[in-house]
Amino acid sequence: MISAWLGALGVLAVLCFRFPQWLTTPEVRAVVDIPLLRSVLLVGLLAGAALGGLALLANRGRRPGLLGLALVFLAFALGGADVPVPDSLPRRNLYLGLDYFVLSLFFTALAFIGIERLKPRLPAQGPLRPDAGLDLAYFALNHLGIAFILLTVNAVADGAARLSPGLPFGGWPVAVQFALIVLVADLTQYVQHRAFHGIPFLWRFHAIHHSIERMDWLAGSRLHFLEVLFQRALVIAPVHLLGFGREAIDLYVVFAGTITVFIHANLGLGFGWLRYVIATPAFHHWHHAAEEEARDRNFAVHLPLLDLLFGTFHLPRRWPERYGLLDEKLPDGLLAQHLYPFRRDRR
Ligand SMILES: [Zn+2]
Ligand SMILES: [Zn+2]
Repeated sequence: MISAWLGALGVLAVLCFRFPQWLTTPEVRAVVDIPLLRSVLLVGLLAGAALGGLALLANRGRRPGLLGLALVFLAFALGGADVPVPDSLPRRNLYLGLDYFVLSLFFTALAFIGIERLKPRLPAQGPLRPDAGLDLAYFALNHLGIAFILLTVNAVADGAARLSPGLPFGGWPVAVQFALIVLVADLTQYVQHRAFHGIPFLWRFHAIHHSIERMDWLAGSRLHFLEVLFQRALVIAPVHLLGFGREAIDLYVVFAGTITVFIHANLGLGFGWLRYVIATPAFHHWHHAAEEEARDRNFAVHLPLLDLLFGTFHLPRRWPERYGLLDEKLPDGLLAQHLYPFRRDRR
């Protein structure tokens, strides 16, 4: 299976090298180290070929092994790690964030499948649960659509920066700015998240995120695309309005992406007193619990303190029995779920 995964990611990566103007993100292009990526690609393809060959020799997992070998072969046929890259590219407004998808999937899977194996909350679930395909499709959509997300977020950020009264936060130490951004962003998220639970029209969008029945690093990707757009734009607005510096904001963006994956992870650690300081898997798993006691609890996604303050905190020592929706049934599939909020006959 790992061979097939590496082969598939390898083919997509070679396509990114071949057609960067259509498939890659200017923001990612600006920061990546091409020679390093070529080495990672080469190692990934060789590992994919070796594992595929091993599966065939050991006569276990022959089909995914064969698929892996075929994909690695295709990746080399398309140019492999030596594929040429154009020197300069015209900047386009619309493109697919295939590079962002491949890099994010590769590194997140590498880190979190390892972390989840340390102490899984549900050991039997494993990294390949039955509905992983749907969440992988959501992961792909919310990464490939990065052009739309960046267009919206940058427009909102520019507007907010222009309206900014020019507060002195930008000159403060980066660590202090970062802590303040986490607080401001989570306050915004708390209010927005409560609105998505309390207002029936907004709940129809958010119900998709709550239809998750198996929690892990990939599950948190299940979000209606319009909710992603709205949430990112809303959170970034006050941060730019208050005039925080670029460095602290970039740091926050990385932190927010990582903690979102972390709080959904299939990780059975309690984290002691830290669970009151920072959002943990147990804290957010209770937000997803299909149990009456957990209804409309734990809205914060960074700081549990906000839920303690507003009286919505719920974190018993035990773990939830079940996850998912309490009294609703959603259609299957990415497209049907995206149309769900607009349907008249929804239950
Ligand atoms: Zn929620
Ligand atoms: Zn969640």
